[in-house]
Amino acid sequence: ENTSNKIAAGEVVEKPASVIKELVENSIDAGASNISVDIRNGGISYIKVTDNGSGMEEDDVEIAFERHATSKIKRAEDLDSVITMGFRGEALASIAAVSSVELQTKTAGGTYGMYVHVVGGVFKEVRPAGCPVGTTFIIKDLFFNTPARYKFLKKDATEAGYISDTLSRIALGNPDISFRLTSGKTILVHTPGNNDLKSAIYSIYGKEVISQLMCVEYMDERFKISGYVGKPEAARSNRNYQSLYINKRYIKSRVISYAVEQAYSSMLMKNKFPFFVLNIDINPQLVDANVHPAKMDVRFADESYLSRAVYMAVSKALSSNSL
Ligand code: ADP
Ligand code: MG
Repeated sequence: ENTSNKIAAGEVVEKPASVIKELVENSIDAGASNISVDIRNGGISYIKVTDNGSGMEEDDVEIAFERHATSKIKRAEDLDSVITMGFRGEALASIAAVSSVELQTKTAGGTYGMYVHVVGGVFKEVRPAGCPVGTTFIIKDLFFNTPARYKFLKKDATEAGYISDTLSRIALGNPDISFRLTSGKTILVHTPGNNDLKSAIYSIYGKEVISQLMCVEYMDERFKISGYVGKPEAARSNRNYQSLYINKRYIKSRVISYAVEQAYSSMLMKNKFPFFVLNIDINPQLVDANVHPAKMDVRFADESYLSRAVYMAVSKALSSNSL
């Protein structure tokens, strides 16, 4: 079953950035208000993720590495209303199958914490440990036992760039959490976690973008749409500056991007894409997040109704700005 974990790892873990996405989403699910990530060699040789979340109970630390172990779905009906980031119970098993994983974790109620070391899916050590409340994961030597995957890793700087983008995107969707990404002494991302989206945008994109934002606020029976769109002059030459969240989960949706772009279409020049950070809150029962392990491609009921709502929300922001 070690082989099947290695194969499954390919779906969840494609590069260091995907490891970090999974670990950080777990930290968010654990209620952390502070999450810090440190990397070496673009995360290939070393990734450390520390959170101040709930921690894990002594009895749960080993189970967490089993495939399909998840503490997040207790009953089948819960699948209908998944609001946590992860719920498949595949990430830790997959990551541990292709790397060395050290875990230190402690709950607020526990008298001591736990240390676990797993290498290539095999437990090397499980013992009590003194540590603060929360969880730290250290991942070393990603893909050491899967040379075919290792070969596809890019240069350190390129992998670090993917990590930086991934963490920035997660940070923009969770302005109530402080995120910090370092590569040695270099700080790549640092958001305040003061629950102000504009401050998070400022930390990630800087002063110029901040001076060109328009606020989006829209609500109907099904959707609440909020966030910021850039003024037409803040448009970019690619879609890397577009971040969309459904119930705080980052997703890519051409249909929604297109709806935003349609609202701008008379104002934007060709080959320009508006800047936006938009949150859509939908009743979780209308969202089917159980689509792909990477979970970035969330399907939702009635996409055309939603894209119309996005079009209206953005048009409203644009017209109130031009008054
Ligand atoms: P999933 O997130 O889909 O449940 P994972 O493989 O990502 O599956 O994680 C397995 C389990 O390990 C989680 O359900 C959770 O109980 C526990 N866990 C993982 N990371 C953390 C963390 N940072 N803090 C607390 N619990 C965690
Ligand atoms: Mg998870």
